[in-house]
Amino acid sequence: MKRRDDIRNVAIIAHVDHGKTTLVDSMLRQSGQYRASQLTGERILDSNDLEKERGITILAKNIAITYHDVKINIIDTPGHADFGGEVERTLQMADSALVLVDAFEGPMPQTKFVLRKAFECHIRPIVVINKVDRPDARPEEVLNEIFDTFVELGASDEQSDFSYIFASGRSGFASNDPRVHEGDMRPLFDLIVDQVPGPVVDLDKPFSMLCTTLDYSEYVGRIAIGRIMTGKVKRGQKANMWKRGDVVTPGTITGVLLFDKLGRVEVEEAEAGDIVAIVGLATIDIGDTIASTEVTEPLPRIEVGEPTLSMLF
Ligand code: GDP
Repeated sequence: MKRRDDIRNVAIIAHVDHGKTTLVDSMLRQSGQYRASQLTGERILDSNDLEKERGITILAKNIAITYHDVKINIIDTPGHADFGGEVERTLQMADSALVLVDAFEGPMPQTKFVLRKAFECHIRPIVVINKVDRPDARPEEVLNEIFDTFVELGASDEQSDFSYIFASGRSGFASNDPRVHEGDMRPLFDLIVDQVPGPVVDLDKPFSMLCTTLDYSEYVGRIAIGRIMTGKVKRGQKANMWKRGDVVTPGTITGVLLFDKLGRVEVEEAEAGDIVAIVGLATIDIGDTIASTEVTEPLPRIEVGEPTLSMLF
């Protein structure tokens, strides 16, 4: 087993309108990795039309930022209570979570809903008290309310002893002092690098991962997204899909992609701890294990409740 210091996988949890999109947007800009051509959209994270219309985040997306040679994968977590299953699946990819709370409103139902699940997943969250620039902000009181919420939701002693930071995604700063309203996002990046544990991985075992999310492209069909649990995956290798009832279906992985800023880049190989997109497995489904042919049993399946149209509209 080894700890990877080059990567941090962190989920982001927030009640709608507490500023998740704006904060991530600001982090992307400041990470200096940002391409001018991507500036055309009004905001970055909300590129999906349905999301724009509904104003809620439905499809979990990943983005990656590089800070001081550390790759930070930010895993967007749906906050809407109706999408059970998806929350657990996305949290499963993360080693910690940023809990973003509006400095005036304090913790709200979606904050609590996802936070409870994060505690169940043994995640030790980091608190970001956001929008401290608001004239009506009451950051210290909100900090106390968050602590009370943690206790109310059954956080362990370790989880209740959380790290926190004050921020304004809109103004683009983070600070340890709620009275300081200037600077940049570096204190937040530093906190993530310090407090989110790098993945502990076994690279000697054969390749295995769970398909957590699906994407689809007209050109390549289904794309499996998930975190590699053990070993390494190489483009071109044969793999098995372990489907419901432990049915084994063979396939060939024709593409391996890592997340990079708002997009993805093709790589020859990826390893345990990485969050990857896998191309080539035409019949892959959410919950399936993808593994090298020598693997003899699947990873534990996460039972999921799929969103239905009545939940969306
Ligand atoms: P999301 O629903 O959590 O993704 O929230 P958005 O990023 O879309 O922000 C919701 C609203 O809050 C928008 O009107 C933003 O302009 C506003 N907002 C976001 N961040 C800040 C901030 O740091 N300070 C203030 N005052 N407003 C903010």
